[in-house]
Order: sequence, then structure tokens, then C-alpha cells
Amino acid sequence: MPDTPTKSAAASLFTRPLTGKVALVTGSTSGIGLGIARAFAMAGADVALNARKVSPETDKLVAEIKAQAGTKVVCVAADMSKPDQVKASIPEAEKHLGKVDIIVNNAGIQHVEPIETFPDEDWESVIGINLSSAFYLTKAALPGMKKRKWGRIINISSAHGLVASAYKSAYVAAKHGLVGLTKVTALETAEEGITANAICPGYVWTPLVQKQIPEQAKAHNMSEEEVVKKVLLSNQPNKKFATVEEMGALAVFLCSDGGASITGTAIPVDGGWVAH
Ligand code: NAD
Repeated sequence: MPDTPTKSAAASLFTRPLTGKVALVTGSTSGIGLGIARAFAMAGADVALNARKVSPETDKLVAEIKAQAGTKVVCVAADMSKPDQVKASIPEAEKHLGKVDIIVNNAGIQHVEPIETFPDEDWESVIGINLSSAFYLTKAALPGMKKRKWGRIINISSAHGLVASAYKSAYVAAKHGLVGLTKVTALETAEEGITANAICPGYVWTPLVQKQIPEQAKAHNMSEEEVVKKVLLSNQPNKKFATVEEMGALAVFLCSDGGASITGTAIPVDGGWVAH
């Protein structure tokens, strides 16, 4: 007798649930993207990392994850600010790994400045890398997913996809835009075996955040400890950074059989920030 969906969903949590799947994670040589790529490989998926350029550092990461997980791992070079390169990353990953079942739109940058002085080129870059790249990659990945009747699309939005902070106009607009794109993608693919969801992290302990601590301490004339409590984690009620491993675990779950009916959502992972 075939497994009921519930039985197979439960069973998949205790095996390598992504065995046989292929994932492409953008901006995945550090931070959240790398955490998700590692988690996917450990869950049995073949993984295409992405960086602007292939380098000895990316070669080292590829070898390390491959050795740890025992799955196929490659690095696809593509600049997420360039639509043609974004689109080409799908056939490039397919060339090495045969297909792309899962995409994670993770690459992102930030610029913090009031609207009146916010440089036009920074607006364009933040929107291009954080939002438009997700549209172009989704567009390129959907035909293959629809053909195979299976796909998972995860957009790394932010708590700033659900609420705003001053001086982050482009970032907040891009992250809210990603939540909208996620909903539209979910509706257009609902009957195709494809899901689309946004993960909305609060502060996550990544090099990007770690780098800000001494800079902010200097700017605010505070100790690094005060910066963490009073500046960075002031909005995060649990007063703790989330980890890249938590992001990886959620992404694996969304791609497993257990996540099959979760689509069109924006899931906060923020210690209670957007519950305010
Ligand atoms: P990070 O700087 O470690 O990761 C960003 C990645 O994007 C890097 O690997 C970077 O090289 C890559 N990238 C940037 N521009 C690119 C381009 N043009 N082409 C290809 N790759 C490019 O920072 P992170 O904290 O891991 O952030 C990852 C994602 O998570 C971002 O979208 C960010 O907005 C989002 N996010 C982070 C936090 C946090 O607290 N760290 C919170 C909410 C959302």
C-alpha cells in the first residue's frame, strides 16, 4: 500500500529529506546563504553555491561541503545585479547538476541613509540585487520546475519585509517587494507541485552583522555590549541573535515533504520582533 502523505512527510524528517534534489542558493559563500547551502547538502541535496566570481576561496568551500555532506557541490559564478547573469545561472547549474529543483534568493546588500540624500545608484543596486534578481531567477527556474511538477522557491526577505525602520528606504522596499513576489509566485504555481515562501529573519549572527558592532560602537560612543543590546537587538524581544543554522533548518523543512502545503507565506524568524 502506498504511504499516506502524512506518513511519508513524517518519515522524511528522520532521513536525508532532500536526497535526489538539486538546490541553487544565491550569495552563498557567507552568512545565511552559506548556512542554508550547508544544511541542504547535509540533508542530501546536490548544491550549487553562487558567488560573483569563482576563486580559491569558493573552491575551498565547495571541497569542504562536498567532503562533509558527500553530495555534489559546485559554485556558479553570477553577479546578481546583472539580469543576464542571474538568468544564465540556471542553465549553468543544470549543466553541472542536471536540474534545479530548489532556488533560494538570498543575495542581498544594505544602504542606510535618509531618503533626501539616499544616492540614486544605491537605490538601484539595493533594489536590483535584493528584489529584481529574485524575479529573474524565479522566471528562469519555473519552466524546469513545472516540467518536473516539483519545485521549492525560498526568498530571504527580512523582518524589514513586514515592518519598517527609518533610513532603510531601498532595503525595506525591496524586502516588502520580495514578500509580494512570493505571494504572486505561490498563486501562479499552486497547482504545479511548487511552493514559494519568504523567510523573514530579524538579526542573525553573520559576518555582515558582526562587522557593524565595532563601527556602531564608535558612531554611538558606546561599548560593543551596549550596541548589541540597545541598538541591534532593541527590536528583538528575545534579545538574542538567530543563527544561520536555524535558517538552514527552516529552509530544509520548507523543501521537505512536511512543507508541501506551505506556500505564499512570510515566516518571521525574529525572536518576536514583528509581534510588537
Ligand atoms: P552576507 O553579507 O554574509 O551575505 C550576503 C551575500 O550576498 C554575500 O555572500 C554576498 O557576497 C552576496 N552578494 C552581494 N551582492 C551580490 C551580487 N551582486 N551577486 C552575487 N552575490 C552577491 O549577509 P547575510 O547576513 O548572510 O545576508 C543574507 C541575506 O539575508 C540578505 O538578503 C539579507 O538582506 C538577509 N537578511 C540578513 C539578516 C541578518 O541579520 N544577517 C536579517 C534579515 C535578512
